[in-house]
Amino acid sequence: MILQALKEYGDYVKPPPVEGIASDAFADGVRIQWLLEINAVGNFHDLLYRGVERLGPKKKKIISFPALDKVPKNVTSDRSHGGNPQFLADNLEYWFGISAKKFGQKSFDSHIAIAKDFADSFPDDERAQAVKKFFEKLVAGQVLAQRRGRAVDRVQSFFAKQPPNEVIVDRRQRVIRQVEQYFDKQLTDKIQVAWNPKPARGAGKLVIMARSFPVKNAKERIALCLQQDNLKPVFHACENLRLFWSEKYRKANAEREKPAKAGGNPPCLCCGQAKPAVEPFGTFSGLADQATSLVFTGKPAYQSYGFKKGEIPNAAVCLECSQAVIRGLESLLKSRSTSKKFHLGRPRPGEGEKIPPVIFVFWTRQPTEFDFGKTVEADLETVKRILESVHKGIPREIAEKQFYILGMSESYRRTMVRYWSETNVKEVVENLAAWFEDLRDRFAEYGPNYKPLSFIRLCQVTVRQPNQPTDEWKFPPFISTGLFLSALLGKPIPPPVLQALVNRVRIVTQTEFDPQNSNADYKLKPARMALLRLTLNRLMKNNEQPFDVGLDVDRREPEYHCGRLLAVCDAAMRWSNSSERGKPGKSTVADRYMGSASSAPCSVLPVVYRNCRHHLNKLKRDLPPKFLQMEILLDEILSKIKSYPVTLTPKEAGVFILGFHHQRQYFFLVSRYAKLKKQLKEGSLPDENKTELEALEDFVKRARFDASLLADLPDEEAPEAPAAEPE
Ligand SMILES: [Zn+2]
Repeated sequence: MILQALKEYGDYVKPPPVEGIASDAFADGVRIQWLLEINAVGNFHDLLYRGVERLGPKKKKIISFPALDKVPKNVTSDRSHGGNPQFLADNLEYWFGISAKKFGQKSFDSHIAIAKDFADSFPDDERAQAVKKFFEKLVAGQVLAQRRGRAVDRVQSFFAKQPPNEVIVDRRQRVIRQVEQYFDKQLTDKIQVAWNPKPARGAGKLVIMARSFPVKNAKERIALCLQQDNLKPVFHACENLRLFWSEKYRKANAEREKPAKAGGNPPCLCCGQAKPAVEPFGTFSGLADQATSLVFTGKPAYQSYGFKKGEIPNAAVCLECSQAVIRGLESLLKSRSTSKKFHLGRPRPGEGEKIPPVIFVFWTRQPTEFDFGKTVEADLETVKRILESVHKGIPREIAEKQFYILGMSESYRRTMVRYWSETNVKEVVENLAAWFEDLRDRFAEYGPNYKPLSFIRLCQVTVRQPNQPTDEWKFPPFISTGLFLSALLGKPIPPPVLQALVNRVRIVTQTEFDPQNSNADYKLKPARMALLRLTLNRLMKNNEQPFDVGLDVDRREPEYHCGRLLAVCDAAMRWSNSSERGKPGKSTVADRYMGSASSAPCSVLPVVYRNCRHHLNKLKRDLPPKFLQMEILLDEILSKIKSYPVTLTPKEAGVFILGFHHQRQYFFLVSRYAKLKKQLKEGSLPDENKTELEALEDFVKRARFDASLLADLPDEEAPEAPAAEPE
């Protein structure tokens, strides 16, 4: 069961206990943008930006914030109506009441109330008192700007670094005094905190004492530190704060435990013990960078369906289990090795995502040697290891380990579980191996040049290419998630994927890769053909013969041979247009007729074939061996087409396209075979090409190629392979 598996994982990643501290009251890896420095009497010292800038690809500015560990978390789950602060580490709403929503004041007040509570609990703690003073002065508008300390420090440390000089010691002392006096005058200024949503160019939105700070929105978080702690946040420097927050957390959680009804507590769904059920369940740090409820009942949304609060059988989980579940989920979402996010596309600036992303988390019960996150990105080493381990056999103790996968998306801050499955490592590794093996092109990608196809590249060949290479791709979720689940769990490919592939081949005008226009999409993209073959093979029934990588002249489907016919007609035009002897020219047959021929062969192919006869007649005069090869092929193909099909279903159209692709590839493979064979005869065949020659020899035999033609046929090179597309 999903909750049990998550709980187990949560227990596994639980940090070692610390005396008196509830570890779940603090979060790790938190992004905090600002540090607010105050002094011991609660005066303002400085506001420091924690962002680190660096230049990313395309000279894009990337700002990251060194993550902070052990930051107070909000105690209970609900913050949607303000309040419930992350103590001394929250956003502008809580610090200064600045908010885009109406809860600014409420959140501000709740923060102050806790600061007061903290100071009252620890009357001897100077930090607790400083925090309280700061808030008291803030409410009264009495916070003074206390910038003198740092300025004097700086001047002093500057002089300390200078070589000692008896003569000017006095002068130095005087400078320090002047600096002190200057800032003493400044000290009388009470700070004003203002929010300017439309600042002048170059100025920030947050204004403190006429100085503007580049805060982008009111949700940016600020941690508090004391001047004496040398920029260490209070929640790290002050042990009492950690105790205080733990206690608060414990109390709030105790309130969430539902008192037992007359018959005693129901057993917890996770651990089976009769413990009080927790309500509300609690939130985790979220799928879209905001807190999200995992389990939710008794909320108004449910009551609108006519349920009354407490009536729906709740997922009765005890407090301890619910905390472990959330801890486990948060930990899984943090790592790319255990989670994968599928977006429809990047929203425009200022817009939210219209279709929420689907997020998968996947994990094994005990750690294994495989990084499944890396197989998603088709990392070469990981894929190799997967293929090898299937070849060698996976050790039983690893093979039997449980593998869990959970797919979720978010809707109004609630988690929707879209998918959940449990299997074992053996199944998953075997599925992945079969996936990558099925996508592999034996001829083009043999040996050291093998590069596995990633999910992104496969998704890319099913949709329209963006106009600019830098624009975002948009994938319908059923395609990306469908392919992901097929690969990991061996699920069938969703039928719309086949339709999308066929549509792309029909719509794209260009048939082959054009080095002049290397960004343009083309019908026969290797990844598209590989995915088409895989999709068709996985749609087959048990008694059907799956498609091989290369041409199969014995296939029964007439549409396969119709596709081949189109490819031969295309080749005939190419060769009859040859500008210089022995070099093929251009052909427009496939560009023009692929779309119509793959939907209604009956009304298109006879015309194409008739035109082809003209090209063949020209070829007979100019290049007899090529003419002969084509005639033999046409005889063979036409003998297999009893009558042209009237219309083709998407699956049949896919077979048609594959037939076209195989027949077209045939010409290049035969030519390549001739080249390697010649090298073998001359004794100049490189070792690394021997396996390729073996594969080609097998291919030529299966394709019933008449080897006596070989000597006279002109060379025909496959179009130059395009550079890998950006991922
Ligand atoms: Zn439990």
